Amino acid sequence: MEVKVYKTGPVVSSRFGIEDSHTLGVYEKNGGYRALKKALKMSRDDVIEEVKKSGLRGRGGAGFPTGIKWTFMPKEPSPDRPSFLCINCDEGEPGTFKDRYLVRWDPHQLVEGAIIATYALRATWCIVYVRAEMWEEKEILKQAIAEAKAKGYLGDNILGSKHSLHMCVATGAGAYICGEETAMLNSIEGRRGEPRMKPPFPAASGAFGMPTTVNNVESISSVPFIINEGGETYAGLGCEKNGGTRLFSVSGHVKNRGLFELPMGTNLNELVFDYCGGLIDGMELQAVIPGGSSCPPLLPDECDISLDYDSLAKANSMLGSGGTIVIGDRSCMVKVFENLTHFYSHESCGQCTPCREGTEVVHRFVQRIEAGEGREGDLETLYEIGGNMMGTTICVLADSVGWPIRQYIDKFRDDWEAHIREGRCPKGGAL
Ligand code: SF4
Repeated sequence: MEVKVYKTGPVVSSRFGIEDSHTLGVYEKNGGYRALKKALKMSRDDVIEEVKKSGLRGRGGAGFPTGIKWTFMPKEPSPDRPSFLCINCDEGEPGTFKDRYLVRWDPHQLVEGAIIATYALRATWCIVYVRAEMWEEKEILKQAIAEAKAKGYLGDNILGSKHSLHMCVATGAGAYICGEETAMLNSIEGRRGEPRMKPPFPAASGAFGMPTTVNNVESISSVPFIINEGGETYAGLGCEKNGGTRLFSVSGHVKNRGLFELPMGTNLNELVFDYCGGLIDGMELQAVIPGGSSCPPLLPDECDISLDYDSLAKANSMLGSGGTIVIGDRSCMVKVFENLTHFYSHESCGQCTPCREGTEVVHRFVQRIEAGEGREGDLETLYEIGGNMMGTTICVLADSVGWPIRQYIDKFRDDWEAHIREGRCPKGGAL
């Protein structure tokens, strides 16, 4: 499915829409691989410093500062323990559709970013993990890697420097949990795609037990701009402690659904009502899930908020992956939550009891309430189950269900009580 790009920006989407933007010739004609030549003349630590100055924070969801993450890698890797960069293009979070388009429309930007990142990281291997459903993007990326290799941008002694890089693509089978970095590493190694206990963290023992940094596609795609224009310029595009721009993938009940590259710190109301043109069919805004389906929803009076990691955390939600889901007032929020808990219970890898059992029990409760068979006391039991799922598991999938329970119930209490007391959905069960 082709997604409409409503607003390109100066950083990662500047070449979207240019004919044959995925090819090496077009990329070079539009400034491509200039940053690599510049970076190879800098020291490795200066490249890291530039990324630190940029204020770039991981675009996969966690928002950890990318430059600081890069400092965790060994400065002098031994030949028998080479360092790896693994790039996460699993993108399984419902509501998120940006990385696949970065790969589709500008794969060389990702390849160039990866070469610069591995130079800074002293890494000689780069694996891009692409989920199997993105088969077209995978082929486009493989073609870009082949073109870059033929031109001397990949392989041994890149452009006559001391940096060598071997880059390849690994295919995931489509499990949501493989978007978690250690589950992704297991999957790359051919093991079951389930999260590992941390520590050890990937920088100490990652892919095949080697020092590894895991970064998101959008994070790495931002690196050429940062090197070309300087970290401070990039930081200046965003807001305090949240440098640069980011891609927002917007879905739901808005007129303009698609991709927008906007400065970090853009107001959420501006995104929904100005860039997306407001709601369809005369609907009123009921809620916005701001950063992918695992983020707690915001009410309309909470949407006058800066889209940055810190402001959304203060509002008890998350910027996450930038997947913004807009929900109009005709949707049943019990049905919305039932839909989400169904997804997470299905995607639990099953290692931890609070997650394996908890997600399933929560889904069954919500399903029963949604079917008009709820009982007095159900909502209090849901609060309690949610609380018991939090912070007790290997990864945060259990929290993705446990954390939002209270907010879905408290913010949309009328919907829940109508289901329980009257055995019916006041909105006709519409999603
Ligand atoms: Fe698996 Fe859930 Fe435990 Fe994560 S929290 S490791 S998904 S069982």
